[in-house]
Amino acid sequence: MDTSLAYDPQRGAELAENVKDVLKEIAAARPAGSSPRLVAISKIKPPSDIQALYDAGHRHFGENYIQEMAEKAQLLPRDICWHFVGTLQSNKANLLASIPNVFVLETLASRKLADKLQNALAKTDPSRVLSVYLQVNTSGEDAKSGLEPLTADSGPDAELADLAIHIRDSCPQLKVIGLMTIGSWEASHAEGENPDFQRLRESRKHLARILGIDEGNLDLSMGMSADFAEAVREGSSSVRVGTRIFGARPKKESK
Ligand SMILES: *Cc1c(COP(=O)(O)O)cnc(C)c1O
Repeated sequence: MDTSLAYDPQRGAELAENVKDVLKEIAAARPAGSSPRLVAISKIKPPSDIQALYDAGHRHFGENYIQEMAEKAQLLPRDICWHFVGTLQSNKANLLASIPNVFVLETLASRKLADKLQNALAKTDPSRVLSVYLQVNTSGEDAKSGLEPLTADSGPDAELADLAIHIRDSCPQLKVIGLMTIGSWEASHAEGENPDFQRLRESRKHLARILGIDEGNLDLSMGMSADFAEAVREGSSSVRVGTRIFGARPKKESK
């Protein structure tokens, strides 16, 4: 990774312009009273791109390789709010816990990882509470990770509810602050309402019912470059946009 934080002013201006455009589209799509967050997904992009957007006032960035996020977090300003959006192997819990400015881990989907994170946090800083989203596999595709969506029939032993209850009762240094979905490529490139977004909204409603909390306390992380405006119309609290801001990524991505 090129560790220089110096950027070409023209590249900086272009990135800032892209963020401005995306923010405009979010503002135009958002339901009254909501203020969805824009997370710039900077995976594979150089730290200098992130510094450029930081200098333009942007603070929320997302990564999906833990090693890369750890390196970038070390180089870049400490008030960046990092979102981890990739799959975290449980043997990397310590590495994640070593990054002080993780805003939220967006992809928690197992008890095993929750327990590892709880242990890692207890060792590194017993007073820290790490926010997490639980990842939901709304499209049911085998290749996608995440827990089964909740429905009106779901009770406390449904896997998503069970994990949320386990965290509430046994992981005092983790806090579930929302749900996240990636969704299917087809649905994100189709017109009209997106069934993945509907399933995430439904899952939130039923999780709130089962936990006995207000659903307004749970974020929905949904929407990427192809469909963030639609996601915002359907109630997204946090959109994850990469390509529209940084341009196309080289093909390293399919892990
Ligand atoms: C890469 C990635 C994104 C951003 O995708 P774009 O289509 O480039 O906006 C969003 N969410 C996750 C989980 C990702 O891995």
